[in-house]
Amino acid sequence: MSRIVLGVDLSDVYNFNEDLVVLLLDKLLKQNKDICRCRSCLEDMYSLSLKLIEPRYHPNSLIEQVMKGYLERQAEFEVNAEKLVMKAIKVVSGNPHH
Ligand SMILES: [Zn+2]
Repeated sequence: MSRIVLGVDLSDVYNFNEDLVVLLLDKLLKQNKDICRCRSCLEDMYSLSLKLIEPRYHPNSLIEQVMKGYLERQAEFEVNAEKLVMKAIKVVSGNPHH
């Protein structure tokens, strides 16, 4: 989907957590093989994870500056994100929409 405002394309401003949640979901579901991994549950887990983790949207003009800050506290951030993705997996698998 293109996101055009006054002729300016904003589609490359996105939540940095999307890629991280994909990696964490893949890792955690490979470690927890008894959890349903149908499309419906995966979409629910992905959506809920992104709601639970504080979003990281940034204008491209600030990316370099922002990335420096992220790298300094990346480990801490990832530990916290992993806990929240695990929480999303538990919530969805405990109450699947099917
Ligand atoms: Zn399912």
